[in-house]
Amino acid sequence: MKNRNARLFTAPAAMVFAFALAGHSFAQAQAAAPAPTDPKATEQWEPVPKIVAPGATDGAAPADAIVLFDGKNLDLWETAKDASPARWKVHDGVVTVDKTTGNIQTKQRFKNYQLHLEWQVPQGITGEGQARGNSGVFLASTGPGDEGYEIQILDSYDNKTYVNGQAASVYKQAPPLANAMRAPGQWQSYDIVWTAPTFAADGALKSPAYVTVLHNGVLVQDHYELKGETVYIGKPKYKAYGDAAIKLQAHGDPSPPISFRNIWVRKLN
Ligand code: MG
Repeated sequence: MKNRNARLFTAPAAMVFAFALAGHSFAQAQAAAPAPTDPKATEQWEPVPKIVAPGATDGAAPADAIVLFDGKNLDLWETAKDASPARWKVHDGVVTVDKTTGNIQTKQRFKNYQLHLEWQVPQGITGEGQARGNSGVFLASTGPGDEGYEIQILDSYDNKTYVNGQAASVYKQAPPLANAMRAPGQWQSYDIVWTAPTFAADGALKSPAYVTVLHNGVLVQDHYELKGETVYIGKPKYKAYGDAAIKLQAHGDPSPPISFRNIWVRKLN
């Protein structure tokens, strides 16, 4: 990026110098270049974008999405620690975290994707700070003992905590650009675009991860470049991994558990 900016800056400067040497003013040089006249010259016709039928309403899964949870069962999910069937409680078209059985993750593995999920902090939530409706969505679960990359889920409606740990933060890396939280008892949505990091064969980082997040339709992470995994203690760093599961957190705090509904993902290449 630095090199590119340097070039953008130096190229016109070099041109001005060259024209000055040739006895031309910059304005004369510009006037000499023929102005484009054909609007068709800048039209692109191929390839035609594929058709994706959108959902009937905002937040509904488009036709090419993988529906990870539609309110009926957790067939596409497993317990993260041992890959046994996911045992969170499905009821009334939602799934509620079961803190006793731990994190759950998708059976399928993903690289780059667009993810939609909805979550609800229960009315009458108790606790404060990080111990109030804490959960999270790990955009790449890199292994049972690893932290992965967490977008925080928390009751941040009226609940002070460190800002890079409030709802919609990239945990311990980036506070959200705004607090778009609805009150407990209401449904919240996250729409997330995840660009996975890439690694060389020797495990060295080739390109970092990026994430864009909308919380209830409000932009809260804008193509943020991650510094590594979102660790609880210490500085983030990258560790090579391949395609990975999407994981939901069963946080150990004693506040009443949150619920999820309407989770879908679109693979991006
Ligand atoms: Mg969390």
